[in-house]
Amino acid sequence: MLYIFDKDGTLVQDVDGKRPPNTLDEQKPFPDVLPKCQALIAEGHLLAVASNQGGVAFGLMTAEQAHMLVQHITTYIGATTYAVCVTHPNGKTKSARRESRFRKPSGGMIEYLMDAFGVSKADTVYIGDMDSDQQAAEAAGVAFEWAKDFFGREA
Ligand SMILES: [Mg+2]
Repeated sequence: MLYIFDKDGTLVQDVDGKRPPNTLDEQKPFPDVLPKCQALIAEGHLLAVASNQGGVAFGLMTAEQAHMLVQHITTYIGATTYAVCVTHPNGKTKSARRESRFRKPSGGMIEYLMDAFGVSKADTVYIGDMDSDQQAAEAAGVAFEWAKDFFGREA
């Protein structure tokens, strides 16, 4: 199976329970993430990350910083690769203020990753913590699991 993970609120904890991290210092993985991902890899599964980083469109960080954050958690969990979308339709930065077929709730990042691995919809699961994650999985035609269920977290 190909397991594709959302980043913020799924693999890493919100800062002060409120907002996604904007720096590496702020990026703290949930403690249950590493053992679960290591077990999946040991079972022969493929792992990837697909993350909206709309904060770039609001000037909260650069695209390079966003990629660095996603790349860091990708390496941490032992995933092979990742996809990122930094646009936002209401963003302040003119160059990144737009909708994108890659931005969740669209399915573009999941579709890209399935093609990057050559894996079918039936063999792909997306794991996330928001309605837009569920919608992205549905748009891409793949199964969805809530992060709290997948990692067995308290509600
Ligand atoms: Mg999330």
